[in-house]
Amino acid sequence: MQRALVVTTRSAEETRIVGAALAAMLLPGDVVSLSGDLGAGKTVFVQGLAGALGVEHRVTSPSFTIVHQYNGRYPVVHLDVYRLDSFQEVLDLGFEEFLDSSAIVVVEWGEAIGPLLPRKHLAVDLWRGDPDSEDERLLVFRPHGPEWVRKVQSMRGTAETLLSAFSEDDSGQPRFRVTTEPISRDHRGPIGDVQEG
Ligand code: ADP
Ligand code: MG
Repeated sequence: MQRALVVTTRSAEETRIVGAALAAMLLPGDVVSLSGDLGAGKTVFVQGLAGALGVEHRVTSPSFTIVHQYNGRYPVVHLDVYRLDSFQEVLDLGFEEFLDSSAIVVVEWGEAIGPLLPRKHLAVDLWRGDPDSEDERLLVFRPHGPEWVRKVQSMRGTAETLLSAFSEDDSGQPRFRVTTEPISRDHRGPIGDVQEG
C-alpha cells in the first residue's frame, strides 16, 4: 500500500514553512494537487511554496479568477478549480498547456480533476487536526511516482530543519509520521465537515 507522510502544523506560518520546504524540491513541469475543505490551508501552503520560489507578488486565492500566474525562479501556475463544473471548463482554461509549459502547476481542489492530472504528481491533503485546536492541521503528502517519493523524503528533512528553527515544539507529539493507513473522515474530520459526524 502507498505510504503517505503526515506533517502536523500548528499555525498558518508553519504551513507556509512546509510549503517552502517542498518548493526546494520542485522543478518546472511538476504538478502538485491540493485537497481539503475551505479554510484548510491550501492557499496558505501555496503562499509558502511560491515565496520560496522567489515569487514576490502577493499570493491570494484564485477561487474567483481560477488561475493566477506568478514568476519566481520558475513560472508558477496556481489554479483553484472549485468553481468549475466540468472537465471541459478546466481544459478550456488551457490546463493541458499549463502542464506542457515549463511551469510548476499547483491546483487547489485538484482531486476534483483527478483524471486530468498527470500520472506522476504529488497529492497533498490538508485536514483539521485536534478538534480542540483552531489552528492544528495535518498535511498528508501522497507521492504518485518514484520521483515524488524521493522529493517528499527530501522535503521532510528540510521541513524538519526549518520548523525546528522556527518554533519550539514542546507538545511532545511527533510532527512527522509515515503511514500506510488511509487518513479519512473516520480518523480526523476535515474542516467544516461537521454534519457528517
Ligand atoms: P483554503 O485555501 O484551503 O480554502 P486558506 O489557506 O485560504 O484555505 O485559509 C486557511 C485559513 O486557516 C487561514 O485563515 C489561516 O490563517 C488559518 N490557519 C490556521 N491555522 C492554520 C494552519 N496550521 N495551516 C494553515 N492555515 C491555518
Ligand atoms: Mg484556497
